[in-house]
Amino acid sequence: MKYKHALFLNPYIESTATSIMGLFPPTGLEYVATGAKGLVDKITLLDLRYERDFCDPDKLLDFIRKEIDIICVSIGWDRQFKEICGLLNLMPDNIPLVVGGYKATEQVEELFRACSKINIIVRGEGEETIKEVLKGLPLENILGISYKIDNKVIHNKNRPLQEVDAIATPDRNLRRYKYRLILNGINVTNSTFDTVLSARGCPFNCKFCTFSLNPLGQKRQYAARSVESVIKEIEQITANTVLFSDDNFFTNIKRAEEICDLIIARKIKKRFIAQARIEIARYPNLLSKMVQAGFKILLMGIESPHDRILTELNKGFDTDTIRKCFEVLKKYPIYYHGYFIYGNIGETEEEMLCISKFAKEISLDSITFQKLRIEKFSPLRKIAEETPGYHVTDRGELYSDTYSHAALKKIGRKIKFSFYTPTALLRILKKFMAMRFFSLSEVMSFISVIPRLLKGVIAREIEKNRLKDSLKRIFIKNT
Ligand code: SF4
Repeated sequence: MKYKHALFLNPYIESTATSIMGLFPPTGLEYVATGAKGLVDKITLLDLRYERDFCDPDKLLDFIRKEIDIICVSIGWDRQFKEICGLLNLMPDNIPLVVGGYKATEQVEELFRACSKINIIVRGEGEETIKEVLKGLPLENILGISYKIDNKVIHNKNRPLQEVDAIATPDRNLRRYKYRLILNGINVTNSTFDTVLSARGCPFNCKFCTFSLNPLGQKRQYAARSVESVIKEIEQITANTVLFSDDNFFTNIKRAEEICDLIIARKIKKRFIAQARIEIARYPNLLSKMVQAGFKILLMGIESPHDRILTELNKGFDTDTIRKCFEVLKKYPIYYHGYFIYGNIGETEEEMLCISKFAKEISLDSITFQKLRIEKFSPLRKIAEETPGYHVTDRGELYSDTYSHAALKKIGRKIKFSFYTPTALLRILKKFMAMRFFSLSEVMSFISVIPRLLKGVIAREIEKNRLKDSLKRIFIKNT
């Protein structure tokens, strides 16, 4: 074998103190690490969010120098870019450094400029590509990578998307942790979390969507795993809360019903969370089975309270349909979380502020909202570029002469505070209790840790900022 011991690293140092994402395992990296099995003698998967010792760069480097002969890192988000570059620039020169992930695919040139130690960037889905890297194939023959020769960056052709059925489930034995709700380093409840990817792709074509088109502009056709393989994976999972990370778990209604039927028949006792479109309201049989099977939270893209914007985004429904669907949905004991987009082209502040009122009107339990982003291959790019007064940054952020980033941020805060009033927070709590989302022992365990949580918040934030500062200093020194 060309390599003996591969390190797969989730480099985000952000603790679970402030990020709900910290609940969930780095599934993308786990898929890639699973694909590497049999091609190296040993695999170590480190998630720095959960590592106390290895959060110290010296200890991490010491381990790498002694043990590792290839490093694979996943960069999926915008945040902590400088800190991660600082960390990567510390990596030993003699150990190949391979970087992949959504953000790495979007910002290949920028990453090579910021991190001189990177040897290869894997663009797009990495499962097949990493296998060829580990086998030691000549770099010029590997599709989907960018690499440097004599300081010149070479981009090989994109790798076509692979078949869904060929994707193995992630090997959870590679994990060193149980993913759970941890606040400020304290286990808040005994709930544990996991994710299952039962299908990839989405048949819809919402113009703003960053899921349906990958950063290379490739659209994956909807393709689902067999019902039996999904159930088998759920049965093997020990976590009591499972998120289906499909773009829309209910794309194929018959298949979704079959999965619910099997969960009920095999007496699988878990809480499920899934992304759904509002049209699910048209299937009362499915909704009843979902409740019985343990579906507790649905994450739904509502996007806008305005028909003009819904049409512009090609969402495929209007506000009247949204209202009618929620008349049905609210009869079921399910928690509904709505996603909205604001800062759309031509949208006024007054229109943006309607989000909160509309969300309350349709009885959403909670909301999140994001400024419109225009990714590289977004069909909205041309419209944005041709609309006078609108601008798109290199990072895909849309702003206008009337609404700067700062102004949009301020509007975002107004939406947040007009929705999340004390009454709304109380309603959320009541809904969780009415749905019995948390068991009594989970509630008791939460109450018992509240004093420790409060005491620890300040210390943890100080520690985090100190670590970030030291990585930033290293980044500046190395650039
Ligand atoms: S339905 Fe959801 S996943 Fe599909 S294209 Fe629209 S926003 Fe994207």
